Amino acid sequence: MSTAGIHDAIDLKIQSLADGVYYDAPFLKQYASNSNAIGKRRAYGNSDRLPADLKSQKVPPEFSVGPFAIAVNYSARGQVRLVCEGNRYLAVTEEGGEYEVSFTETPRFYNASMSNGQPVQHYATVYGRSTLGFFTPGVCYYFAAGTECHFCSLKDTRKTLKKDISHFIKPQDVREAIERIAELDPGTFNKVMLNGGNLKNHDNGFLNHIRIVEEIRETCDRLGLTIHLITMPPVTTCLIDEAKGLIDKIVFDPEIYDEALMHLICQGKAEDFGRAGYERSFLRAIDALGVGKVHAGLIAGFESIDSLSRGFEYYGAMGVIPAVNIFHPDPGTTLENLVRPTQDFIRAALEELTKVYHRVPGATPFLPNSGRNAIDTEAYEAAKYEKRTTEVV
Ligand code: SF4
Repeated sequence: MSTAGIHDAIDLKIQSLADGVYYDAPFLKQYASNSNAIGKRRAYGNSDRLPADLKSQKVPPEFSVGPFAIAVNYSARGQVRLVCEGNRYLAVTEEGGEYEVSFTETPRFYNASMSNGQPVQHYATVYGRSTLGFFTPGVCYYFAAGTECHFCSLKDTRKTLKKDISHFIKPQDVREAIERIAELDPGTFNKVMLNGGNLKNHDNGFLNHIRIVEEIRETCDRLGLTIHLITMPPVTTCLIDEAKGLIDKIVFDPEIYDEALMHLICQGKAEDFGRAGYERSFLRAIDALGVGKVHAGLIAGFESIDSLSRGFEYYGAMGVIPAVNIFHPDPGTTLENLVRPTQDFIRAALEELTKVYHRVPGATPFLPNSGRNAIDTEAYEAAKYEKRTTEVV
């Protein structure tokens, strides 16, 4: 077994995201019986293609190697295999590489209640080891309109989850949950992520997030937590100014740079905003929050590498840092049978993204060390490594 260096760890992530991750019944039995190991909650969607015999148990959402959180999207064809050896967990690659990995632990707040008697975990979910995720609203208007993003499994997943995670969360509930979590799990989390589906009225959807941030900003400052918002832009662009001084990082998700493909895959977003609408929003957000705080969410795996890297350049030139997730075909979605991007494709995307971190001064990932389906922290660390080694030479 080797200790993963930065390039090994990045390669392990590339392999895990390209082909999914495999584990067998004996591994899962061991994992499920480990009460410290966290179970996947699917607040955001369902990325596993589990066979029937593995469905009823607790499954891992992610593992970590060095600074990187890596999503466990189960696939029977996954080339990275999770195994348990004594009291250690290993990720084994097809070429025979073996790396010791760690799993995120179940926090104490998963067994605690709020003052209204509801479980704290109805409101908050652990994401990527060090992030507290609040997902509101848990519904998206685009499904009702028939214009949803074709890769999104929010609707089906939330139907299955029923009451496990709240659909709509009030600002005071978010504050109380954060305070409770800080008492129960001090020092475990360093970021709060607000995220959600969409309302028909994008101004109201955006302002709902702002109201939450207003309520929690002071608490987060006191507890050393940064605030990261994933949202649709408001239609009334000047409302973005309300984020000034409140939010550490914001991301709007055009998902795809190629406009024709955006129309095909994300019809609602293309019709409501399109590239021009997103551009207006990004420019306003840069004015309000500054360079380094605004990100463009893109999914790698639909458009060509040329198109994706043109997108990186376009956003980078505005001072907007791409936040890049790797496509995974979720069961039950229109694109459930689309092939995943290859390892070579992800490697090329990561190389292009690394150039943005070299180009934009002070650029950092949207969710440092937590983006388990993203290649942001990896590109950031690769850029830092390249800079260090060039300086030494
Ligand atoms: S905007 Fe698209 S990705 Fe986001 S919740 Fe709606 S359908 Fe899903």
